Amino acid sequence: DAKREGKNTYRFFCRSSAITSLKNLEIKDDLRRALNHNELQLAYQPQICARSGRLVGCEALLRWHHPDKGWIPPDVFIPVAEQSGLILPLGRWVILEACHQIKAWQNAGNAVPRVSVNVSFVQLLREDMHTLLHDCLTGLDLAPDCLAVEVTESSIMRGEEAISQLRKIRKSGIRVALDDFGTGYSSLSALKGLPIDELKIDKSFVTDLNQGTDGKAIMSAVIAMARQLNLEVVAEGVETDTELAYLRQKGADIIQGYYFSKPLLHGEFSAYLNQHSASRLQIVEG
Ligand code: C2E
Ligand code: MG
Ligand code: MG
Ligand code: MG
Repeated sequence: DAKREGKNTYRFFCRSSAITSLKNLEIKDDLRRALNHNELQLAYQPQICARSGRLVGCEALLRWHHPDKGWIPPDVFIPVAEQSGLILPLGRWVILEACHQIKAWQNAGNAVPRVSVNVSFVQLLREDMHTLLHDCLTGLDLAPDCLAVEVTESSIMRGEEAISQLRKIRKSGIRVALDDFGTGYSSLSALKGLPIDELKIDKSFVTDLNQGTDGKAIMSAVIAMARQLNLEVVAEGVETDTELAYLRQKGADIIQGYYFSKPLLHGEFSAYLNQHSASRLQIVEG
């Protein structure tokens, strides 16, 4: 085997990349089947107003329960879906499912102000997203402001095509959020003039708050500049009291993270809503 062949690292590399592509092939076939066999679900993670403690929305996150392999994380299957084009039907399913859930919560008298869905650059480039979103909303008689789309920095930097899609989406009243901010290369000034309402600061920056003064200084500067650009600031991956207190003190608008809740399947999320609709969430005073 490759180990016994020892120093022949080139061969080893070829083998492992062959294994990877074989795995991807498997995931791709399984994913195609998953779409047609109800193996996919959305989980919803609460987003909480940093000032009032009120629920302002949630992010819809794909969950795949494979019949043999168990839960497969989106970080594994989304890239395969993007490469294979399966992200297009997958992405349509996500939007439709999210809209149906928004409607169901409304009908149950437990409306969630807004649901965010993640949208891949492949969808922005190969799908008429603006029309798709519009059709889903009007088909269910939903207002555009109950939906938000999250796109990453690298998608938006793919060129004018993607940006013009987002401009149309935003003009129709759907919120646009820039996801994972800070993991790409663009500076905040590069965001000026882009069709976005909201900046989601990546979890890694929140985690860095615990690593001494540099992390705090960077976070504080990012929040201040985002506010200057009239962007709402969402902090992702908030887990602790200390992180929350710092973010509130520096003026972050919305908090998302395990501190409040993990992503919840729709039944669990409904229970969460029932529990919290009457009262505001407890927030430590910063
Ligand atoms: P994302 O859009 O940045 O989503 C946030 C991720 O951080 C989620 O991981 C969420 O579970 C996780 N998270 C939230 N709070 C915390 C926390 O306090 N601590 C920790 N350790 N993690 C936290 P998840 O659900 O595994 O999703 C990973 C990524 O997969 C997403 O990152 C997104 O890029 C992608 N993804 C998920 N669903 C979809 C989808 O429907 N479409 C597309 N295109 N991408 C999706
Ligand atoms: Mg996201
Ligand atoms: Mg993110
Ligand atoms: Mg991410």
